[in-house]
Amino acid sequence: MADDCLFCRIIRKEIPANIVFENDAYVAFRDINPQAPLHVLVVPKEHVASLNEATDAGLIGGLSLVAAQLAKREGVAEGGYRTLINTNRDAGQTVFHVHLHLLGGRPLGWPPG
Ligand code: AMP
Ligand code: ZN
Repeated sequence: MADDCLFCRIIRKEIPANIVFENDAYVAFRDINPQAPLHVLVVPKEHVASLNEATDAGLIGGLSLVAAQLAKREGVAEGGYRTLINTNRDAGQTVFHVHLHLLGGRPLGWPPG
């Protein structure tokens, strides 16, 4: 837990968020600036700044499994969806608590910008 981290504050319920999933290790909530009809962020409760600092394969792998579960629940699993993690400047990471984006509900262009 980091005192000044936005996502740690959401995890601690100090800042409101539209939480769609929570268990002992993860929280998932709707992105405040959605880029697709479905845009959810999946975060580990443990504060890890970015993929560069990650060491726990299970913790990072679990992000994808939570997203797949949510994709099914939100009705985009069959049509398709995208999961991605932005890391550092060139990818446009803005919040330094690792998070996996789950995007769906429309055709997603490739390659991304
Ligand atoms: P990234 O650019 O990969 O670091 O993604 C950060 C994401 O967090 C962006 O898509 C933002 O729209 C989203 N975001 C920022 N603040 C909030 C918030 N308070 N609640 C939900 N999503 C947020
Ligand atoms: Zn954090």
